[in-house]
Amino acid sequence: MLHPPCPLPSYVAADKLGPWETYLEQVAQVTPLLAPSLQPWIETLHRPKRILIVDVPIRLDNGEIAHFEGYRVQHNTSRGPGKGGVRYHQDVSLPEVMALAAWMSVKNAVVNLPYGGAKGGVRVDPRLLSIEELERLTRRYTSEINIMIGPDRDIPAPDVNTNAQVMAWMMDTFSMNQGRTSTGVVTGKPISVGGSLGRQDATGRGVFVAAREAARQLGIPLAGSRIAIQGFGNVGEAAARIFAGAGARVVAIQDVTGSICNPAGIDLAALRAHVAQFKTLIGAPGTEAITGEEFWAVPCEFLVPAALEGQITTANAPNLAARIVVEGANGPTTPAADAILEERGILVVPDVLANAGGVTVSYFEWVQDFSSFFWTEEEINQRLERLMTEAFNAVWQVSRERRLRLRTAAFVVGCSRVLEARAIRGLYP
Ligand code: NAD
Repeated sequence: MLHPPCPLPSYVAADKLGPWETYLEQVAQVTPLLAPSLQPWIETLHRPKRILIVDVPIRLDNGEIAHFEGYRVQHNTSRGPGKGGVRYHQDVSLPEVMALAAWMSVKNAVVNLPYGGAKGGVRVDPRLLSIEELERLTRRYTSEINIMIGPDRDIPAPDVNTNAQVMAWMMDTFSMNQGRTSTGVVTGKPISVGGSLGRQDATGRGVFVAAREAARQLGIPLAGSRIAIQGFGNVGEAAARIFAGAGARVVAIQDVTGSICNPAGIDLAALRAHVAQFKTLIGAPGTEAITGEEFWAVPCEFLVPAALEGQITTANAPNLAARIVVEGANGPTTPAADAILEERGILVVPDVLANAGGVTVSYFEWVQDFSSFFWTEEEINQRLERLMTEAFNAVWQVSRERRLRLRTAAFVVGCSRVLEARAIRGLYP
């Protein structure tokens, strides 16, 4: 006899619940599909294991003191240490970090990495900080979450607005507190301090592999295909470059500065040079500015959201003119939009599968750090290719056998693995 579902924890009820509510809805959809033996453990998925909220005070360059709120959430550690990125953004909130941590639990299980799920963030607009202020913020945040992280406890990585330099500061701060260098405490580090070749492009490369496999199933040739990408950061830029290298045309890009298109294909090298100089997509050589609405309706084979959550909604889902949506971002499609896309016959390759390339190469980095033996880029890309293809095929098979959309199939695979580990470990005490 199952206990009736518990009400949501009180800290959840206080917020707007956007991404966390989306995650709970996804779990609710998959719950009846999980094995009867796992049903008593479902509540595990609804409750983050551990949440830390920290005050991050720093001295600004002008001498004033500013306070920022930071978070680290371990959603589940049944399969191994927590693993997930750190986000710096003015809209970061506890429910968002909870959702991102939960998606990491599912994602790490989908790719079968020996990790649980975690995520962190600081509610700050990093564009308003000098590089020195950013370093002080990173070091203070790392010190505050020091009690939760460690190479065998919880391993942060880059996410929105954090990068290899931020990871180097985090690694150094943790190491100073430990009194010894501990490279394995974060991944996505610079190569010179234990980073891995191939990590920079790994998420974009994984997005490409997932898209290629989906296209193969639908009989869509990559060469000459059209791609629209939201986000031209770590994930979006690499995905654009790797797609273009495979003979596809990037026809539209949107970032926080606006949207551009060129139906003949955007010259990415010229775009990168333009962005480096002017800090905006707008005005890039050979491109035309379009509205946000027009961006979502650009005809293409692949649409890759690679920015933030909640971007494909009931407002734009009816207008999408893509064959396949490949979720580079975490949580870019709302559940209501998901239903519209399914009805319209647009295949969605879900985040927990499509963007798993980043954490996969993070895993390789962590393994290399432990053994202090580093692999070639070729080896890394081959292993990434193999793990991503295997994960795609496993999810695709479940989706065909059980007639499920890919997201539901991925959640069946991921949630089953998390709950199997939970059940076999049992409860303490
Ligand atoms: P990033 O900071 O490098 O880039 C983010 C991009 O999104 C930028 O181009 C920015 O201009 C754009 N953007 C931000 N707000 C926007 C808005 N309102 N409208 C349009 N564009 C907007 O971040 P990233 O590391 O590339 O992460 C992007 C997404 O991919 C996030 O959802 C992240 O969680 C996910 N992800 C990242 C990794 C990784 O390895 N970095 C791995 C898996 C998933």
